[in-house]
Amino acid sequence: MRSKIVAGNWKMNLSSVEISKLVKEVANQIIEGEISSDTKIVFGPAFPYLALVREILDSFHLGNILLAAQNCSEIDSGARTGETSVGMLKDVGCDLVIIGHSERRKFHKESNELLKLKVDKSLEHGLPVIFCIGETLEEREQEKLFEVIESQVSEALFHLSAEDLSKIVLAYEPVWAIGTGVTASPEQAQEMHQFIRLLIDKKYGFEVSDKMSILYGGSVKPANAAELFSKPDVDGGLVGGASLKSGDFFEIIKAI
Ligand code: PEP
Repeated sequence: MRSKIVAGNWKMNLSSVEISKLVKEVANQIIEGEISSDTKIVFGPAFPYLALVREILDSFHLGNILLAAQNCSEIDSGARTGETSVGMLKDVGCDLVIIGHSERRKFHKESNELLKLKVDKSLEHGLPVIFCIGETLEEREQEKLFEVIESQVSEALFHLSAEDLSKIVLAYEPVWAIGTGVTASPEQAQEMHQFIRLLIDKKYGFEVSDKMSILYGGSVKPANAAELFSKPDVDGGLVGGASLKSGDFFEIIKAI
């Protein structure tokens, strides 16, 4: 059975005081709420707070809560002011790294070619990846959505061996649904998730595609999470805004 995952991407939000409170509240709710240990919960703080979150998580001894960075460099070290290497992320205790978020693609002009290098670097260091893909509204309206998703997946990932691909979690995040309050309908999400699983199936076979977790992201909230997660190819969510409040985030976790 593939993993069920609810990942919070905090982006450039929250202070150390807010983070401590949020992590402890969610961890306590997970203990009390008896969430299945098969469900993985991920926290994705900004770089300065990775070590703080690691320290708090370690004090709870909950193996199913994981720590993710929001980005990484494609090289190991050297003259890259402002960048953070995968080795550094491992050093501070990250379990995962998010690569290819649409905000990185848009504001930092990250191409499929660069993202491929970042994926390779992460896997070289044994750091599993949440890899984000998604079409813009314009691409959807022009009916190019399947073409765009296919190239995002194939150009950045299809050089990988089946073993390496199994260390990737995909997150389908339609750009028009991120931070907008507009959510893809459960049917739209299922249609795309099924398409993505089929792409993996055609290239790597059923064994690999069936085990791949594919998360949905884009304005997931307590009110819509259960319906989205009920779809057969939706294995959880990557959550932005609603992961900043412990109550909302825990409601979404419970929905899985
Ligand atoms: C995201 O940033 O990955 C995201 C899905 O954001 P939001 O939930 O706020 O739309």
